[in-house]
Amino acid sequence: MSKQQGEQSDRKKYEFTKVIEDLKSHQGSGTQLVTIYIPPDKQISDVVAHVTQEHSQASNIKSKQTRTNVQDALTSIKDRLRYYDVFPPDNGMVIFSGAIDSGGGQTDMITEVLENPPEPVQSFRYHCDSEFLTEPLANMLTDKGLYGLVVLDRREAHVGWLKGKRVVPVKGTTSLVPGKQRKGGQSAQRFHRLRLEAIDKFYKEVAGMADDLFVPERENIDGVLVGGPSPTKDEFMSGEYLHHEIQQKVLGKFDVAYTDESGLYDLVDAAEDVLADLDIMKDKSQMEEFFRELHEGERATYGFEQTRRNLVMGSVDRLLISEDLRQDVVTYECPNDHEEREVVDRRKETPEHTCEQCGEPAEMREREDAIDHLIDIAEQRGTETKFISTDFEKGEQLMNAFGGVAGILRYSTGV
Ligand SMILES: [Zn+2]
Repeated sequence: MSKQQGEQSDRKKYEFTKVIEDLKSHQGSGTQLVTIYIPPDKQISDVVAHVTQEHSQASNIKSKQTRTNVQDALTSIKDRLRYYDVFPPDNGMVIFSGAIDSGGGQTDMITEVLENPPEPVQSFRYHCDSEFLTEPLANMLTDKGLYGLVVLDRREAHVGWLKGKRVVPVKGTTSLVPGKQRKGGQSAQRFHRLRLEAIDKFYKEVAGMADDLFVPERENIDGVLVGGPSPTKDEFMSGEYLHHEIQQKVLGKFDVAYTDESGLYDLVDAAEDVLADLDIMKDKSQMEEFFRELHEGERATYGFEQTRRNLVMGSVDRLLISEDLRQDVVTYECPNDHEEREVVDRRKETPEHTCEQCGEPAEMREREDAIDHLIDIAEQRGTETKFISTDFEKGEQLMNAFGGVAGILRYSTGV
């Protein structure tokens, strides 16, 4: 993935996260919120047919209010689907529509269409409930990383991927390793030797299968997980069957009872803590570098205005934004053309502003999401954006002590 694409997807993830948070904050009264997940290979005409059918079924809903709301939502969805040709966009799309409670017994109809989520929509889903179905989409957003998966015992093995939170089984094989029970007439010694040979051959086959899959992606892989019963996985690891670069990427071996496709899912469950730590580790190393520069070097900046100024200069290598930052930036202009900005809580009204340079009252020119504002500049200047979790001390400090915004600079600017 190129740097540019990385930024694009970070940004897209942020946009989607905002929509999800907004949708989750709305509760319908009754089962009247409609969510549709459309995979890339689903024909739009099929979706329209499905929605039409749901519309006619909705006429059976007893409560007039609910019936009207559901039918309105479905009509709104059909209207939106008109804009698409045969198929949805490359990664599919997700549509949310329904009457949301706007307070005081009033409802508002909203319809949100999210095109091209960061990962392809897996399957068609129609969901009508008191809440929007946001979880599959949320799972695509929280993910970071690509991991290779191997599960094996002496009889069977499977390899696959963990892409974000999604397990993708790829290939499996079974062995011809004979059981421990030898047939009559065979010498015990010979039987034992043949059996070890067969095991060795099987491990080589499994390693070959894993290498074929992982080696071409070795630059992108964040790690490899190996699972199985003991001592198989231990033998497999200590025998160094895997390509040496892949072997080095093994994060650990985990006890897993099954070695069919379901074993791949068990493996990810077993490695949950390790994976969570790794996710945090990446954020941690960014913050550690920031603090090192802050205390001992000169290549650190923080706070909205300071970081913004550095961004505009093109001096920021990495923009660090707290995942918890939910603020807007208001740009003001005074009669003497001075431009100033204030960062405000997203839920707060736009405050009055007096120009700090000439004391004249300034007018609001624009109010926008603070993160969007910064990423816009970052993209123009080739600056990478990193979202930092608040689930560790220094990440929390970024949010609470540094205003949620900081930067690691390419060179010292004195700003
Ligand atoms: Zn002024």
